[in-house]
Order: sequence, then structure tokens, then C-alpha cells
Amino acid sequence: METSPSVPTRHPDTELNDLGLPKRDLFRAMRRGFRCRCPNCGKGALFAGYLKPLPECRVCGEDLSHQRADDAPPYFTILIVGHVIVPIMVTVFLLTDLSNAAHVAIWMPLTLAMTLGLLRPIKGTIIALQWALYMHGFDPRGDPDAMPEGYLPGDAAAENG
Ligand SMILES: [Zn+2]
Repeated sequence: METSPSVPTRHPDTELNDLGLPKRDLFRAMRRGFRCRCPNCGKGALFAGYLKPLPECRVCGEDLSHQRADDAPPYFTILIVGHVIVPIMVTVFLLTDLSNAAHVAIWMPLTLAMTLGLLRPIKGTIIALQWALYMHGFDPRGDPDAMPEGYLPGDAAAENG
């Protein structure tokens, strides 16, 4: 096949995912998100405050405004904290004769600390997952200007057809 110089070509090393978009390393992105870093570069901060995501990375400029973490972070946080705290709490309850006040004094702060400690990294992980899988507005196919580097519209169609 002859390729004229005027026809732009995708970088040959760029592997495509099922959507025909450049593949993003899901687990690397999620690790970066868990560290509350930009899923794209791993350097820029992901949050402006405790839980408020930045609209874009201040280091690489990646548009992060498309995240729709919604109530997934609290859901997974409750799931994890519950599965860690409750078995330990029940075990301690059955094996000791601590007063109710002592149980409250132990488990309330522990639950609170674990929840507040996990909520932010879990939210970062969810945002990174959505970014890596091109979920929601992260899917640029409707907006050619937002196409990631190395992607050209029509690539997927050309390869699948
Ligand atoms: Zn970045």
C-alpha cells in the first residue's frame, strides 16, 4: 500500500484498545490515581482539595474534567472499611469483655480514620480507571480536537473494516 506524505499516519508503536483508541495502561493509571496523582503523567496533583478533582493536570495539561466518580468512591470505601473493621470488631467483642464504651472508643475513631484515609485514594483510583478506559467524557471520539496524541479519526474503522 502506498502512503502519500499528506496522509497522516498513526505512530506505529501505538497499540489500540477495543474502542480503536490508543491503549492506556489501566493498572499504572490506577496506581497513579491511588497516589492522588494525574493518571496520565503521574506527576501532577489530581485533587485541588481533599476530594475536589482538578479540571486538568497542572503538569501535563490532561483534561480531567470528564470524571464521573459520583458515589463510587464512598461505595468502595464503605465496602473495604466494613470488611476490615467488622470482622476484627466481632472477634474482639467475642474474645474480650470490654465495655460498650471501650468498643465505641476503639471502633469509631478507627472506622473514621480508615474511611477518611481511603476515600481520597479510592476516588483517585476511580477517576484514573475512567480515564484509562475512556469512560464518559474521556472518550474523545465525538470531539476530534480532543483526540489523544497518536490517534487519527478513522483509524479504528480502517483497521476493523
Ligand atoms: Zn498529568
